[in-house]
Amino acid sequence: MQLEQMYQQVIMDHYKHPHGKGLRDPFDVEVHHVNPTCGDEITLRVKLGGSGEAVAVEDVSFEGQGCSISQASASVMFDQVEGTSLTEALRANEEFSALMQSAVQDQELDEELLGDAIAFSGVAQYPARIKCALLAWMAFKDAASQALAKEQTS
Ligand code: ZN
Repeated sequence: MQLEQMYQQVIMDHYKHPHGKGLRDPFDVEVHHVNPTCGDEITLRVKLGGSGEAVAVEDVSFEGQGCSISQASASVMFDQVEGTSLTEALRANEEFSALMQSAVQDQELDEELLGDAIAFSGVAQYPARIKCALLAWMAFKDAASQALAKEQTS
């Protein structure tokens, strides 16, 4: 099987059987992001735990609708950030943004940080779809930074 086909299979699997889908309680922050160019939407909740250096992503949950790339990307994002430290989750987020902007060479990619998100590498060639792939990750980054700010002021 070609690598490209394998990647498409990974994306379709996540689309058909999304991980972490369904909004859950409790949560610190809820955000709603849309990608108007494609019509994709996501509502995402984040619950942080711990403090200082040890802040962890206790739970991420989401509900969404839209194209297969946007929905599969949310499922993949969940796998990479759920239960990790916030630092690690944000690093994965940066790595994925870099992948979408073709800012990194294939051999420089951190496969452990990316997990199945590496299957989206082909999407970077289609500028119109990059926003679809980034939607869930941007929503997570937004929610996590709001949750962190909330924690620091409380
Ligand atoms: Zn889309």
